[in-house]
Amino acid sequence: MAANRRFRNVARIGPVQVATYYDGQGREKHTAACTAPRCGFATDYDSRAAAELAARTHRCAVR
Ligand SMILES: [Zn+2]
Repeated sequence: MAANRRFRNVARIGPVQVATYYDGQGREKHTAACTAPRCGFATDYDSRAAAELAARTHRCAVR
């Protein structure tokens, strides 16, 4: 079965959730995902700083 993503260090910046997880290769990945319904913004990053920056600068399309 596909491994569950085990999110760690979940933080919320505005409407965007940032979390750290290990991918299938055991590499640390960082994701930023908007929680607004219908927004659909969700991107993975190689560094936590990049994910947090994306969360901070996200301009939500849903208003
Ligand atoms: Zn959004």
